Amino acid sequence: MLAVRPDRFPAMNAPDRTFASPAPGEPQVRDVSELAAWPMIRTLVGFDTTSRDSNLALIHWVRDHLAGFGIASTLTFDDERRKANLFATIPARDGNATTGGIVLSGHTDVVPVDDQPWSSDPFVATPVGDRIVGRGVTDMKSYSATALALVPLFVEHPLARPLHFALSYDEEVGCVGVRRLIAELPARGVAPDGCIVGEPTGMKLVVAHKGKKSWRCRVRGHEAHSSLTPRGVNAVQIACEIVAHIAAMARRFHDGARRDDAYDVPYTTLHVGTIRGGTALNIVPRDCEFVFEVRHLPFDDPDALLDEVRAYAESFVPAMRAVAPDAYVAFDPLSKMPGFDTEDGSAIAELGHELCGRAGAGKVSFGTEASLFHGASIPTVICGPGHIEQAHQPDEWVSLGQLALCEAFMRRLAARLHAA
Ligand SMILES: [Zn+2]
Repeated sequence: MLAVRPDRFPAMNAPDRTFASPAPGEPQVRDVSELAAWPMIRTLVGFDTTSRDSNLALIHWVRDHLAGFGIASTLTFDDERRKANLFATIPARDGNATTGGIVLSGHTDVVPVDDQPWSSDPFVATPVGDRIVGRGVTDMKSYSATALALVPLFVEHPLARPLHFALSYDEEVGCVGVRRLIAELPARGVAPDGCIVGEPTGMKLVVAHKGKKSWRCRVRGHEAHSSLTPRGVNAVQIACEIVAHIAAMARRFHDGARRDDAYDVPYTTLHVGTIRGGTALNIVPRDCEFVFEVRHLPFDDPDALLDEVRAYAESFVPAMRAVAPDAYVAFDPLSKMPGFDTEDGSAIAELGHELCGRAGAGKVSFGTEASLFHGASIPTVICGPGHIEQAHQPDEWVSLGQLALCEAFMRRLAARLHAA
C-alpha cells in the first residue's frame, strides 16, 4: 500500500537522465539490468515498511523466497505481532547451522516520507540516470536485497561455514527489534563468528561507531500575566538557559583535545532537537520542554555529561521555588545506544577488508545495530552501499556503482564460503 498518491509527483515526468562519471573506485554501470539485485531492490522498496507500520508483508515475502531454496526462517515478533525479525541460515556442508559462520544483517524499516518533497513515488524504486531513487535504497534495503538476490549463488556449492541472514524491524526508532532477534540466538545454540551490518558506508569498512544517549528536559515554572513577570517563573527562559549551556558544552568538545580523527566527526557532540513551550506572549509560560542527545566517543561518559547539565539546571531551582513551590526541572531518559569498537585486525575486520577489496577502516558517528551484535559477543563490522548523507532525505538515492561494489562484495563472500 502506498503512503502517498503518485499524482503528487509532478517531476516524475521529467527525470534527470544524465549520467555523471562514477565516483572514484566505483565501476561504471550503464543500466540497472546489469545488477543482479535490481529486481530484488524493486521488490523490497515496494513494501512500505515505514517504522510505524507493519513490516510483515516484506518479512513473509522474504520467508517464502528463502523457502523456495529450502532455507527455513525463524521469525521473532513484537508484542502486538504486527512486526517481525527474520533469521535464516544456509547450513554448512556438514549440516552445521549454528556454530560459527557470518551474519549479514539489515533492518527492514524505513523513515517516514511525510512532508518530504519527493519527485517520484518513494515506494517505487525508480532508475534515474546512474542512480536508483526510492525510500530505503540507501538506508538500507539495497544491502539486504543484494544478499537475498545472490542466494542462488550461495547455495550453488556447499558452504564451509553457515551463512545467516538477519532482517530486523524498528531499527529507525531505537534498534528495538533486533534486540529480540539477538536475545533468542543463544537459546537455539546459534553462535556466529561475526556479523556484517549493511548500513550505508559507501562500501568502506567501518569498525566502530559512537554511542548515543538522549533525554527530555521538562521545566515547570509558574504562570502570571506578562505585566507581572516577577510573580511568575518563566519556563521558556529557564529552558533556554539550559539549552545555551548544552551548546557551550558542545563547543567545549568542538574546541577541545579529546578527539579520535578516525571518525567523520572526531569529537563528542551534544545537540538539542526540539523545544516546545509557552502559550501566548502575554502569559509568563508555565511549561517548556526540549529533547537533547549526546553522541559520544567511547572514552567520553554520557552520564557524566547529563550530570553536568542537571547540575546547571538545578542551580535555577531555589529561585524558581521561592516564587512557586511546585516549580521543577526534570530529566527523562529517552534512548540509549552503546558505541562499539571492533579492533582493526580482528578476524571479522580482516574478512571485511578482504570482501571490500581495499585497505583502511573507518569509524562513523551514526548509531547502528552493530553495537548490539558486538555487545552480544558477535564481532561486528559495518559495510554497505550508499552514503549516510542520502539516508532519510527526500529523493533518497543510491548509485549503480555502489550497488555493483556491493554485489562484488557478496560474490567474494560466496567464493570465500565455498572454499574449503
Ligand atoms: Zn539504517
